[in-house]
Amino acid sequence: MPVTASYRPETLHETLGEPFFDHVDAAVFPQTILRFRNQRWAARIGLDGLSDEEWIAHFGRFEPLPGGLPQPLALRYHGHQFRVYNAELGDGRGFLFAQLRDAADGRLLDLGTKGSGRTPWSRRGDGRLTLKGGMREILATEMLEALGVDTSKTFSLIETGEALQRGDEPSPTRSSVLVRLSHSHIRIGTFQRLAFHDDKAAIARLLDYVCSHYFPALDGLTAQAKARAFLEEVCARVAKLGAGYMSAGFVHGVLNSDNINVTGESFDYGPWRFAPAYDPQFTAAYFDESGLYAFGRQPPALAWNLARLAECLLHLTGLEFAQKTLDGFAALIQREFRAALLRRLALASAGEEADARLSKSFTDFLMATRAPFEQAFFDWRGGLASEKRAKASPSASFYEREEFAPVRAALAAHEATAARLDHPYFQRAEPCTMLIDEVESIWTPIAEKDDWTPLQAKSAQIKEMRDAYGFAPA
Ligand code: AMP
Ligand code: MG
Ligand code: MG
Repeated sequence: MPVTASYRPETLHETLGEPFFDHVDAAVFPQTILRFRNQRWAARIGLDGLSDEEWIAHFGRFEPLPGGLPQPLALRYHGHQFRVYNAELGDGRGFLFAQLRDAADGRLLDLGTKGSGRTPWSRRGDGRLTLKGGMREILATEMLEALGVDTSKTFSLIETGEALQRGDEPSPTRSSVLVRLSHSHIRIGTFQRLAFHDDKAAIARLLDYVCSHYFPALDGLTAQAKARAFLEEVCARVAKLGAGYMSAGFVHGVLNSDNINVTGESFDYGPWRFAPAYDPQFTAAYFDESGLYAFGRQPPALAWNLARLAECLLHLTGLEFAQKTLDGFAALIQREFRAALLRRLALASAGEEADARLSKSFTDFLMATRAPFEQAFFDWRGGLASEKRAKASPSASFYEREEFAPVRAALAAHEATAARLDHPYFQRAEPCTMLIDEVESIWTPIAEKDDWTPLQAKSAQIKEMRDAYGFAPA
């Protein structure tokens, strides 16, 4: 197989041993039609030289990669789903296929699947993924990556030729298998499962594993110090994640504890949506009837999940330390949100007080007026220096309202940074265009047989956002 020098396979997860996973086999699919391969990230891990046929052999038929895991592992975990504990979770339609080093920064990465067949954890599920579900995950990961949110990457999507029945679909729908590239698949729910079984030895083992491979600075600490530093580190990373969602206008939709990676990387995209305006009550999943995971409730939802992680480590950290750490989360996420906002607006910090004034006035303005979310960031990217562009914007009248006066005053204190045009969104307009065109070319021929309207609406919204960045900034 034509791998490059950047290809650095690992099989570390296997060293955790049997209680953490089950060996499984991939389903045999009637068809394997390549729909998406992520060449940028394939290059990063040395797999960009694969022919399409070789790609399909590994990411559609799951022939082992050289030096990789000989057999895939379905990972065991539990978790709270909409606040209800579920001890029957686990990889029900996916598995860990391979681990590799990121050649650029040495991080340990996983290639994990979604829709690769049934496992011991499938319960009544078919172990499959709809093609639409796969497309939605591509769009979410590509958009979030472009918006600067730390997210798993969609690595591959292959259509698999089965007709799937889904409760929320009027007729059978097409199938696919997705491969995602992530920085760990260890979830808060992975710790919860061990705590549920009161297996302190396994918790210690998992903690050692996670620290040595994802938080090497904590390696070598005593058990108590390690657990405390780990809890702090996860809180810090999850705060960054929440701030990323809020500054991107992103609603994940299903922030259950099994969907929270301990590295703080965003992953597992089902019924996500971007909020068109800053509406705290904007909800993504049709089944989220109480709005538990609505846009504005994401920070408290993340805090709630962190408390579940803290519970698993209490015997090591002590109650007082855990409480103090969790109490610090609100301030952490606010600080991260201020930083994220400055990044999106390409402004330098003007000190904590001035930054806080900008973040409060900007969100107050967005919330009160419901001005289009992405447009506002685009219009004021670079601060008051962008006044001319903002005046020509379709949102110009929003900026004449009195709610905008405090924003203008706060912006006056902030200088544009050199990164003004460096935002990944500006740089990546073209790959995003190609992606959206590709999505359209897949759904158009079957549009009459299958209802793609919700996905089309998402794509249209993304296109609009992309177009907002498409013309040269002032
Ligand atoms: P999610 O809501 O996607 O995070 O999934 C929650 C749990 O349900 C996980 O354990 C999944 O593996 C499992 N699951 C979801 N869909 C299916 C399916 N079609 N077949 C088997 N298991 C599934
Ligand atoms: Mg999940
Ligand atoms: Mg899912």
